[in-house]
Amino acid sequence: MSDFDYVIVGAGSAGCVLANRLSDSGAEVLLVEAGGRDRSPKIKIPVAFAQQFRTKLDWEYSTGPEPGCGGRTIYVPRGKGLGGSSSMNAMLYVRGHRSDYDGWRDDAGCQGWGWDDVLPYFVRSEHHEAGPGPAHGYGGPLEVAALRSPRPLTELMIGAARNRGYDLDRDYNDGEPNGVAPVAVTQRRGRRWSAADAFLRPAAGRPNLTVLTGATALGLEIRDDRVRGVKLSGRAPMAVARARHEVILAAGAIGSPQLLMLSGIGDPEKLGAAGVDTRVALPAVGTNLQDHPYVVGIWDSTIGASLADAEKPAALLDFLLRRRGPLTSTVAEAFVFTRSDGGDGPPDIQFHLAPAYFADNGFEEYDGHALTIGPVLISPRARGEIRLSSADPAAKPAIVGNHLTDQADLDALVWGVKTARELVATPPLAAAVGREIYPGPLAVDDEALAADVRRRLELLYHPVGTCRMGAGDEAVVDPELRVRGVEGLRVVDASVMPTITRGNTNAPTIMIAEKGADLVLGREPLQAATAPAVAA
Ligand SMILES: Cc1cc2nc3c(=O)[nH]c(=O)nc-3n(C[C@H](O)[C@H](O)[C@H](O)COP(=O)(O)OP(=O)(O)OC[C@H]3O[C@@H](n4cnc5c(N)ncnc54)[C@H](O)[C@@H]3O)c2cc1C
Repeated sequence: MSDFDYVIVGAGSAGCVLANRLSDSGAEVLLVEAGGRDRSPKIKIPVAFAQQFRTKLDWEYSTGPEPGCGGRTIYVPRGKGLGGSSSMNAMLYVRGHRSDYDGWRDDAGCQGWGWDDVLPYFVRSEHHEAGPGPAHGYGGPLEVAALRSPRPLTELMIGAARNRGYDLDRDYNDGEPNGVAPVAVTQRRGRRWSAADAFLRPAAGRPNLTVLTGATALGLEIRDDRVRGVKLSGRAPMAVARARHEVILAAGAIGSPQLLMLSGIGDPEKLGAAGVDTRVALPAVGTNLQDHPYVVGIWDSTIGASLADAEKPAALLDFLLRRRGPLTSTVAEAFVFTRSDGGDGPPDIQFHLAPAYFADNGFEEYDGHALTIGPVLISPRARGEIRLSSADPAAKPAIVGNHLTDQADLDALVWGVKTARELVATPPLAAAVGREIYPGPLAVDDEALAADVRRRLELLYHPVGTCRMGAGDEAVVDPELRVRGVEGLRVVDASVMPTITRGNTNAPTIMIAEKGADLVLGREPLQAATAPAVAA
């Protein structure tokens, strides 16, 4: 295999951005992706995202045994194929709170990553259908839109939240999400708009960009403390893709630390236990795992008006002819951002309001109309870890999240379930709600609710933090995303977040890759004043 300037591992949210921005500079770029192309209708049709679970489009990981959840394992899907998890996700466009990024800068020593520093990168990516604004881009590659056909039940849920005192948040992506709001989504004309649609396809014709699907990175080739290339299997058996300048890992919060550890970069003791010789001692690799835990409340709808209608032939026709109707839904259609302790600080709970029955990651079937209100803990205290289970690259790593091992995390979610019950008892929603299905009539007091939360806790598919960025020894990468202790290697994906953002993690990951591309190319940081409202 010939040499490239940059070899990028993983064509997910971050990898697609990097492939576009780096190849745009004229550099020779190879993008390596273990999965295949992204043609499945389960990718294109928004409401079908959960139908990808446990198929060949999914890496199908799990965490556990979880000590805070009775030793259960918890399912962790990850997208496999062009677009990565942005081809599987629920398309909710959420940047988080300004204090998340200011915390990266001030508490984790990540100079250049405060909210004012990163906002221009969110803006550069974006094409917001509502037009340009101080916090929004217009003309960028990533399409951001309102849902085209929200269900009538969603309007009632928003009304109930307002009647309970939550203000309408007209732009929850302005750095200060607070109150109730309909969701913004990464869609174009009612279809998913993944990172592959936004960033990879426009660059695919460039002669200096090679995209290799069906090729799995097995580890790094390291000589004289410098990473020289990536060992590949799949279509190119035992080939090594060599990088003249850098290898960039964008294999996601599970794949990137796994590849580092397989290559002998990690905690010597843990590597030894898996039968891997240490090349670079970097104990933080794989630690600091964070995710957003949640639990759902579900009630019957007495007025229909839910996504159960998505199964009807008329819905398919509506989608095919007009790109409208229930098939364009992202299941969650509105949010409430709030604080469980009633204080003034940034939110710790993000309710997902869904006009649908969504239990056990959507695996549980239900014959009827229902609505789901899911309190999601967006600033969890739990920290978990990813370790190699074996030196075999094909073996899934061992993952534990330690969810609910901190009492404060449990208390916030119990508060969330009680608040969901209050919402469904509030007009105008109250008149549309029937039987409580979850948590159900037996969960009467806080003790019973806490037991129920431990029993039914799920994860919102947002693993981050396992190659954390920072200034000190506890960091895996420095604020320029270079892996410490070795030359020619960066990690640029969700795994570099020092702390998880207060909201869904796709937009922040795309931002990380936008800024990461500038760091790789040695460009000056984008300044707010120069960030174009109409992005390049
Ligand atoms: C079901 C689901 C729903 C979600 N919903 C939302 C949502 O609505 N909104 C939101 O903001 N976020 C959501 N997320 C989270 C969001 O999509 C992720 O945070 C984001 O996509 C992470 O980007 P990434 O680049 O770090 O990793 P990924 O996008 O996962 O990309 C990693 C890529 O690397 C490839 N790869 C891994 N290992 C190797 C290897 N060894 N060799 C070659 N290739 C490899 C993978 O196949 C994948 O393509 C969701 C995620 C999932 C799974």
